[in-house]
Amino acid sequence: MKIGFYGAAKEVTGSKHLVTLDNGTQFLLDCGLFQGSGEEIDEWNKNFGFDASKISYVILSHAHIDHSGLLPKLVKEGFKGKIYCTPATKDVTEALLEDSASIQESDIKFVNKERQKNNLPDLKPLYDIKDVNKAISQIETVAYDTPFNIDDSVQVLFLDNGHILGSASVNLVLKEKDKTTRLTFTGDIGRYNNRILRTPQAFPQADIILTESTYGDKIHDPDPNLKFKLLEIIEDTCIRRKGKLIIPAFSVGRTQELLSALNDLSFENKLPKIKTYVDSPLSERATDIMETYPECYNDRMKAFMKKDPDPFGFKGLTFIQSKSESQALNERHEPCIIISASGMAEAGRVKHHILHAIVNSRNTILMVGYCSPYSLGGKLVGGAKEVKIFRSYFPVKAQVKKLNGFSAHGDYVEMLKFLSSQNPSDVKKVFLVHGDENVMHVFKNHLNEAGFQNIYIPNYKEEVAL
Ligand SMILES: [Zn+2]
Repeated sequence: MKIGFYGAAKEVTGSKHLVTLDNGTQFLLDCGLFQGSGEEIDEWNKNFGFDASKISYVILSHAHIDHSGLLPKLVKEGFKGKIYCTPATKDVTEALLEDSASIQESDIKFVNKERQKNNLPDLKPLYDIKDVNKAISQIETVAYDTPFNIDDSVQVLFLDNGHILGSASVNLVLKEKDKTTRLTFTGDIGRYNNRILRTPQAFPQADIILTESTYGDKIHDPDPNLKFKLLEIIEDTCIRRKGKLIIPAFSVGRTQELLSALNDLSFENKLPKIKTYVDSPLSERATDIMETYPECYNDRMKAFMKKDPDPFGFKGLTFIQSKSESQALNERHEPCIIISASGMAEAGRVKHHILHAIVNSRNTILMVGYCSPYSLGGKLVGGAKEVKIFRSYFPVKAQVKKLNGFSAHGDYVEMLKFLSSQNPSDVKKVFLVHGDENVMHVFKNHLNEAGFQNIYIPNYKEEVAL
C-alpha cells in the first residue's frame, strides 16, 4: 500500500490523504478545502493532483470545511462512491457545505463584476449547491463504536475524538493478501475538558498513525474559571461602560460553548439582564443540530440537563436570521452581547458589527479562538492601532480582549495523552499532518520522548510506500 499526502502536509488546511492498496483500490481520508487566499491556494483547490473518478470511497473524520470542503468538487469531477462518516458529521457537513456554496456564489459575483469592468472572462465557483446536494446524497453513516466492513479489504471503526460534534478518529484494518495493517487517522484531536463534548476515546493499537499536530508546541492555559472571566468582561463592558460586547465565533462548536457558558451564568442568576444576540443563521442551524445529538454530550452536560433541559437557551437570548434584523442591531445603542461569525472576523456579519463598534471606547471586541495574524481578528489581537475593514481604515478605540481556553484542538500534552493508548514500540510509522512545519518538528521531539520512533513529516503530494 501507499499513502499520498494531498493536503494538510506541513500546513493546517486542505486535509486529504489518499490510500492506495496493493489491489489498486484507492480511497481518501477527508477531502478538505485549502483555506486562505492567494494564487497558490486557488491552484491547490482547483487541481486535486489525482483522478477523482478512480477513488472508490471517502472516509470523513469530521465536518470542518478544511476536512470536508472539497467533497462537492470531488463529486463534480466524477467521484461516484460513498462517503462514510458518523450521523452527526453528516448533518453538520450538510450545513457547512451549503454555507460554503452560498459564500462562493456571492464572492464570485463580486469578483466577476470587477473582472467585467476590465473585460476579463467570468470565473466559476469550485462548486454549487447542486454539487453539494449530490455529495450529501452519497454519504452513508456509520455509528461510533461500530466496526464496519466497507469491502473485503477495509474495515472502519469511528471513535469519538472530542473535537466537534460528530468528530471521530478513523481506525482502519486493511487486508492485503497475507498482510494486515492497522492504520489510525486521528482526525483533529479534541480536549479533555470540553464544556459539552466527551473526552477523546482511547483507540486500538495501530501499526501506522497519521496524527494531527496543530498545537504540537503549545500548552493551553488550563482555565476552570473561563465562564467567570467571560462574566467579568460582560460586566465591565455592558454594565460599567454601557457598551456592546462583540464576540466573533465559529458557528460550529465555539458558539455553542459560549451559549452553554452564558446559560450556566443565567441559571446561576449571575448574568446581568442584558440582551444576547446570535447573529448568524449557520450558528442557529448548528445549535439546532447539536440539540438533536444529546448522546454525544459528556457527563457534566447530561447531569446539568436534568436541571436545565435547554442548555443553549436562556432569558434574553435572540437568534437573528434576516439581514435587515442584523443591520438593525447596529442602529441600537443599548448595551448588549453580539455573537457572530466568522471566528477570525475575516468574513460574515461580524465584520459589520466590528466596523460599527470599533470607533467607540465603550465597546469591547472579544476574541475566543485562533486567529491567523493576517486576519482582522489577528490584527486586533496583535494590538493594531488602525485596521482596514472593507475599503476604509478605522482607528481601534474599542477595547480588544482575548480569552484562551475555548480551543477545539488539544494542546501537545492532550495529544500525547490521546496517543498514550498505544504501545509505541508496536507502532511502525507515525506521519505528522495538519500543522505548521516548525510546530511539527517540536511535536516530533515530544513524540520521540514518549517512545515513538520513525516519525515522518510528509511533503505536499508526496506518496510514501509502506
Ligand atoms: Zn477540525
